[in-house]
Amino acid sequence: MNALNPSGWRPHKGESGGEAPQTVSGDRGLMLEEALVFEIGGMDKCGVDFDVEPGAVSGALAGHVRAAPLALAGLTEPETVRHYTRLSRQNYAIDLGPFPLGSCTMKHNPRLNEKIARLPGFADIHPLQPQSTVQGAYATIHELAHWLTALTAMHSVAMTPKAGAHGELCGLLCIRAALEAAGDAREVVLVPESAHGTNPATAAFAGYRVENIPATAAGRVDLAALTARLGAGGPEKCDVAAVMITNPNTCGLFEPEMKAIADAVHAAGGFVYCDGANFNAIVGKVRPGDLGIDAMHINLHKTFSTPHGGGGPGSGPVVLSAALAPFAPLPFVERQADGTMRLVEEEEAAIDHPGSFGRMAAFHGQMGMFTRALTYILSHGADGLRQVAEDAVLNANYVLRSLEDVLDAPFADAGPCMHEALFSDTGMAEGFSTLDIAKGLIDEGFHPMTVYFPLVVHGAMLVEPTETESKAGLDRFIAAMRSLAGRARAGDPALKAAPVLAPRRRLDETLAARKPVLTWRAAPAPPMEPVLSEIGGS
Ligand SMILES: *Cc1c(COP(=O)(O)O)cnc(C)c1O
Repeated sequence: MNALNPSGWRPHKGESGGEAPQTVSGDRGLMLEEALVFEIGGMDKCGVDFDVEPGAVSGALAGHVRAAPLALAGLTEPETVRHYTRLSRQNYAIDLGPFPLGSCTMKHNPRLNEKIARLPGFADIHPLQPQSTVQGAYATIHELAHWLTALTAMHSVAMTPKAGAHGELCGLLCIRAALEAAGDAREVVLVPESAHGTNPATAAFAGYRVENIPATAAGRVDLAALTARLGAGGPEKCDVAAVMITNPNTCGLFEPEMKAIADAVHAAGGFVYCDGANFNAIVGKVRPGDLGIDAMHINLHKTFSTPHGGGGPGSGPVVLSAALAPFAPLPFVERQADGTMRLVEEEEAAIDHPGSFGRMAAFHGQMGMFTRALTYILSHGADGLRQVAEDAVLNANYVLRSLEDVLDAPFADAGPCMHEALFSDTGMAEGFSTLDIAKGLIDEGFHPMTVYFPLVVHGAMLVEPTETESKAGLDRFIAAMRSLAGRARAGDPALKAAPVLAPRRRLDETLAARKPVLTWRAAPAPPMEPVLSEIGGS
């Protein structure tokens, strides 16, 4: 009997009240319910056979015997396997279907990546091994660094940051170190309104005051307003340390005036940070170094596959201009004159890298991501990477043009988009919104797109199909979206109840994000539904 459900059927009620079909077990078809491990395990049981009674070994513990039971669930091996397998089936994954989350670049992760990353010479090594025993791993990092600088036309790259946001911090700390070395204490970082939330957060975390750069009606940076803010007084009169610009931006548009923006910022003595999370759209086509960029993070887990679904590992190397390279963090891999590789740490750096601002990570960076990214780059080659960008842009434009007659597309008149298509909630019936489309997509078997971001568009829906979706796959998604858009325009009340086919109805996502219940508490037995809902939504 299902432990959630000892006394019979329990309805799956959500906020919107829609109810799922009833069964006694709580399972529906092959959609299986699963309780928390503590609820099915039984703390008084033990799933393991011990040779000796636990009491008999207590003398060996020098008085450090627990006073209270450990309170771990006592599952047998088959129960354990089923528990985690059932939970895993409740995930939606890129290996199951499209994941059109705008800005996240949820592309297919080629299996070749996994094969290479699992080679024992990569998978079974330890960061504290003697350097002579991990020369191949260091050479791999060095080779990837070479290709990242070649693809971006930048001077060098800091490999250690562990994600895009970490890379942003690395870039801004390089900029701050460079300005401080020049005795220039600037206080302001300019960020456009359409930016990813990590940009202003990073600038504030690095100790800067954040100011907005206004956008034009066409969704691009307002160059005139930017130059006015920088002032005509030259470097002495300017308080702007850096501008952070995303290109292509989060409206899915290329910033064509990037070079002019960079020239203006440099003339005022500031630096240009580019949020390179959208590099997927331009890899092999545009080199950021040619646009005057000083620092840019590359989300290896976006552009170079291995998408981040469940908070899995990321990697955010930061390419740097010659002006910022001396301030890059430690440690870093360097090829020595005799051809061997070494990891440059504080002791060596004090002599030949004294400007380093410090350290972003304990070791060399995210090795598993490095091997996958290098595999991806080398297996695609120059022509393959260019085609990645071209197909990603083509797919997004196919989605844009296939939906613009049923969904409002605020920048569609400005011409083609880059790798993501942006829609707003304008035109839906009274009381219907972006959320209803997103929830309806779940019933249709799709992960929803990014919603309510970027903030510059009302009820934003940001769709990023990536290059890995086939035309047939896109057509299925478009058909679902057209149906949902029609229902939202017509005000179909059934859509307000969606999702009705998923294990749960609409969850209180704000509560789940703000007050996640991450710790299981024993009695008094609470009604299970709210507890599960909160965890499920976080
Ligand atoms: C994903 C993303 C980031 C943050 O990258 P993480 O690796 O998630 O830290 C920053 N900016 C943009 C535009 C992004 O899409």
